[in-house]
Amino acid sequence: MAVKFNITFVERTIPKDPRLAALKYWCGRFQRVNLTPLYHNRSLGNLSFRLHEDGNAFVITAAALALKDTLTDDSFVIVHSYDNLSRTIIASGTREPSSESVLHYGVYAARHDTNAVFHGHSGRILRTSDVLGLTTTRKFEDYGSLELAASVLEVLDDESFIVMKNHGFLSLGRTMDEAGTRALEIWERAKSIKTAREV
Ligand SMILES: [Zn+2]
Repeated sequence: MAVKFNITFVERTIPKDPRLAALKYWCGRFQRVNLTPLYHNRSLGNLSFRLHEDGNAFVITAAALALKDTLTDDSFVIVHSYDNLSRTIIASGTREPSSESVLHYGVYAARHDTNAVFHGHSGRILRTSDVLGLTTTRKFEDYGSLELAASVLEVLDDESFIVMKNHGFLSLGRTMDEAGTRALEIWERAKSIKTAREV
C-alpha cells in the first residue's frame, strides 16, 4: 500500500494534544471489533480529528501501524495541508501520515461541520450496504489514490457515512464520539442482516 503523494515535514516532533486520548480510545474500539483488521501485519483503516475549527489541519494515525489498540503519541501525525499541484502533504510528526491522508484532507475541506473522520474496513458492512441503504462510491479506486478521494467527494454531499466500493467505509462526525458511535451502530445493523452466503 504505497503512499501516492509526497510528504514535506515542517517539524519532526510528536503531536501534543489532549484529544489524542479520545482518538486512541476510538482506535482501540475499532481494533477490538475488527473494523481495522490486520493485513500483512498492518492494521487497515485510519482515524483522524480536525485540529482547529477554522482550518483543515488534522491529526491522523501514522501509516503502517500494526495493531491500533495500544497506540502511543508517536503513532499520530499532524497534517497541516495538502498541495494539489505538487501532490504534497505538509505534516509534523516522527512517522509518515496515513496513506489515506489526502482523502481525510478532502473531507475536512469539503465539510466544515465535520471534526472527525474514521475509516475502517468491514466485509460485512460492504456486503450489506445495499440492504442498509448506505451511500456508496460509484466504482473501486486504488487505496491511497487521489482518485479514491475524488470518488468519495463525488457522492459525499451532506452524508455522514460513505461506503467506498470494494474497499471500506468512512464515518464522519461533529465529534469523535459521533463518528465512532455511528460506525459501531452501522456495524451492529450489518451483523443483524443475513447475507446471501449465509442463507
Ligand atoms: Zn482503507
